[in-house]
Amino acid sequence: MKVVDLRSDTVTLPTQAMRDAIYQAELGDDVFGDDPTVNRLEQMAAERMGKEAALLVASGTMGNLVSILTHCRRGEEAILGDLSHTFLHEAGGISALGGIHPHTVKNRPDGTLRLEDIEAAIRGDNVHYPRTRLICLENTQNHCGGAPLTPKYTRAVAALAKRHSLSVHLDGARIFNAAVALGLGVKELTDGADSVSFCLSKGLSAPVGSVVCGPKEFIAEARRTRKVVGGGMRQAGIIAAAGITALDEMTDRLRVDHANARRLAEGIAQIDGLAVDLQRVQTNIVYFDLQSDRQSADDLVTELAKNGIKLLHLGAGSLRAVTHYGIEQEDIDRALQALEKGVSTRAGWAGSRHKFRKVKKTRKC
Ligand SMILES: *Cc1c(COP(=O)(O)O)cnc(C)c1O
Repeated sequence: MKVVDLRSDTVTLPTQAMRDAIYQAELGDDVFGDDPTVNRLEQMAAERMGKEAALLVASGTMGNLVSILTHCRRGEEAILGDLSHTFLHEAGGISALGGIHPHTVKNRPDGTLRLEDIEAAIRGDNVHYPRTRLICLENTQNHCGGAPLTPKYTRAVAALAKRHSLSVHLDGARIFNAAVALGLGVKELTDGADSVSFCLSKGLSAPVGSVVCGPKEFIAEARRTRKVVGGGMRQAGIIAAAGITALDEMTDRLRVDHANARRLAEGIAQIDGLAVDLQRVQTNIVYFDLQSDRQSADDLVTELAKNGIKLLHLGAGSLRAVTHYGIEQEDIDRALQALEKGVSTRAGWAGSRHKFRKVKKTRKC
């Protein structure tokens, strides 16, 4: 039985074309700048993002870390969303390794930060305060249901940053999902951001890697920072080869993932005991809630896993499913059938043996 793994788009396996590209990749020592495949990927990525230069890094986390470490010095401050991946899920790296002070602003349900809130978070010149240096945005915003940020919004934040002599870093882990959802070129979404990082290893299905893009001098400095955090990789063309295939062949098909996410969300909306906000499902991420006093989300996830359906449980009754390459329409239908069967709305279902555990409610968008 096929396992339908909807925990994340990071579970995607490389395509045959990627495996072939990896096998045939021309290699060199990238720390010397000698890997032609890495150089080609970096050039391609910079062009796609509308930036001067690019740098291959090991992960999205490293992409954000290297970018923010390059923008800010110790004791300086970065403004970022309270539901941003960098604030929540990167092990506090910017503080731990960079001494950078995160200043959070509330994320709104559409993934944005209010311009007024950003402005209020910018520090004045006062010996008591850290110096504000950077504003970080995330597109799509993972915790806000994969919400895409519009070019208009990103440009407005960039204009605000410029007025205050600040820089903007865009965590574009899923920037291609945003471009496909909005029907726009990716360059329009990166316009105004000084730096952008995006993942090759999520929806684009490459096995490893992210890319940081920005101005030439910024990338030269980021290359040094990448070395500091141990990210100087040698024959990294092995990774870059799959990344080139990802950029060439895998961006347009993200629309299939979005259609599957929509199908899943619409199905979930029909199931007793589950609740989903359909308006918030715009890309490949579906957040939904289990509303049952007989069954915990944990128990439901365990039950579904026995039927080969994997979901992520995010605390309280909150669940997440992410569609990606390798997930077909019939897999979505199987997941829906399993959910319908697995959700206990009556007493007597196997799951009701377990006491429903009250878990602290986490704030969602
Ligand atoms: C996944 C993700 C990252 C980190 O990428 P990794 O490759 O898992 O380190 C960063 N930002 C966002 C928005 C993400 O979803």
